[in-house]
Amino acid sequence: MILRHRPYTLRLRHAFGIASNTRTSTPATLVEFEHDGVTGYGEAAMPPYLGETQAGAAAFLDRIAALLGDFPDPFRREEILPAVDALAPGNSAAKAAFDIALHDWIGRRLGLPLHRFFGLDPRRAPATSFTIGIDAPAVVRAKTREAAPYRLIKVKLGRDDSADRAMIEAIRSVSNVPITVDANQGWADRERALRMIEWLAGRNVLFVEQPVPKEQLEAAAWLRQRSPLPLIADESVQRLVDVPKLRGVYDGINIKLMKCTGLREAHRMIVVARSLGLKVMLGCMTETSCAISAAAQLSPLVDWADLDGALLIANDCFEGMTVVEGRITLPDRPGIGVVPRAV
Ligand code: MG
Repeated sequence: MILRHRPYTLRLRHAFGIASNTRTSTPATLVEFEHDGVTGYGEAAMPPYLGETQAGAAAFLDRIAALLGDFPDPFRREEILPAVDALAPGNSAAKAAFDIALHDWIGRRLGLPLHRFFGLDPRRAPATSFTIGIDAPAVVRAKTREAAPYRLIKVKLGRDDSADRAMIEAIRSVSNVPITVDANQGWADRERALRMIEWLAGRNVLFVEQPVPKEQLEAAAWLRQRSPLPLIADESVQRLVDVPKLRGVYDGINIKLMKCTGLREAHRMIVVARSLGLKVMLGCMTETSCAISAAAQLSPLVDWADLDGALLIANDCFEGMTVVEGRITLPDRPGIGVVPRAV
């Protein structure tokens, strides 16, 4: 078994602003897992505010490579992936990169797309939203026009009321498509958050993601009792262990491979969330079509998808999942369904 990795910097097509910061690139690490003449692909995307780095991912992936000697059969993911997880806490994006490459290898070796491996109907894949970051109204209008092929727009809010309202009004001046809102923990005052959500409810907004800071579960539960819109946890949920504590606090969760260590745990989170009556959304960081296509394999299981990460970068080095008339369209190719391409 050979595990290769290299740093790769994702260049964003537009500077991307959220409530806490703005950036123009995302550090990533690309991974190849080769065995028995078959190569699987994986990726770690590491927005700096989450704390992982390309150097840290390289060091952790080298530790995984050393561990693989203990596991002669790559199909034994139920042994391999827990052992990788136990190597060290954190490193969730590096763990996800390996998990994706291993699943891709398994799918390719079996000649099966992973959605078939997981028993899913690709025709049930949902629409994906297209994300518009925090920006000046003229830019927001231009980006909204650019998003015309999408059935759903996700907008980043979480600043003061007038700036947030200006974002929504800029979109509504050129489009009536449903909007999902991500406040990225920006509304620390619950009363103010409620007023903003009530205002949004009259503007064809479907739900609000992470209105309050991640540790404020009591404020989230208070808000949920009163909110006319469903509230979805993002920063408040990282891994499987976080899911049960959100029952009664949020209406649903946003699962991302880079937070939860990959496909194996993401699938378990979906199952547990469903058992608790929670809605499920599948999200992403800015990522190439490698990690996006991996997440898309699970998308027939979820209520909403925000898998636009590859559309936001200028140097996507994979072909994979496509968006056709706003809907996630899974390629009929084995594994995660990607083909590397020169950029
Ligand atoms: Mg979010």
